[in-house]
Amino acid sequence: MLSLKNLVVHYGGVEALKDISIQAEKGSITALIGSNGAGKSTCLRAISGLVPLTSGEIWFEDKRIDGMVPEKIVRLGIAHVPEGKRLFLQMSVLDNLLTGAILRKDRAGIEEDLKKAFKYFPILSQRRRQLAGKLSGGEQQMLAFGRALLSNPKLFIFDEPSLGIAPIIVREIGERIRQLADEGYTIILVEQNAIMALELARKAYVLETGRVALEGDAKQLKNNEHVKKIYLGI
Ligand code: ATP
Repeated sequence: MLSLKNLVVHYGGVEALKDISIQAEKGSITALIGSNGAGKSTCLRAISGLVPLTSGEIWFEDKRIDGMVPEKIVRLGIAHVPEGKRLFLQMSVLDNLLTGAILRKDRAGIEEDLKKAFKYFPILSQRRRQLAGKLSGGEQQMLAFGRALLSNPKLFIFDEPSLGIAPIIVREIGERIRQLADEGYTIILVEQNAIMALELARKAYVLETGRVALEGDAKQLKNNEHVKKIYLGI
């Protein structure tokens, strides 16, 4: 479904990714975990076309997407839910959701996906006329998630969806991410909350200083001594 092959990315003189290869399977959740600065967000930015590759290739379905402009990558069906959400705080919840559909013309499909977003998160329907800036942090995360649904993607990329939100909402967001995968969407989940990520994912990659230090079945990685000590605090 999505394949990152031997990615190298630089920011000026800093080598942020040093030969990273990652695969995400259709209809499953693939987690990337690792400490601050390990390169997780850079991988996601590379997929979305927001940073250029020094070398390597990115394949989505049967297309090579590295070098494409971000808009084209969105059109192919990749939705990025960024860290920090990037909402329009002075706009209503509904208008924020509709910005997700900005590249679409299929009115009926947009209407259907709007219903789907409201079904995933009924609170967004109740607050549809409110300004996004008036929502709690957790509700804003739901809104960012719903906006991604409105772009009608095949692949969702979540960058730290649990960051700064209450544990009960983290659980709800986690359940909705699992629901997406159950419905056949493909998910890449970046998390510093390694427990959440390893519980949700089928496969996981541990990134350390721009390299894949470990990869494998998420349940097995949860029992790996190195992962337990460094990332799970056990
Ligand atoms: P975090 O969880 O803190 O977001 P991360 O694993 O997502 O960490 P990245 O943000 O991908 O890590 O950063 C990887 C490396 O690239 C780090 O050394 C970081 O300092 C560097 N880096 C990231 N963004 C930039 C930038 N815009 N300019 C220069 N260096 C950067």
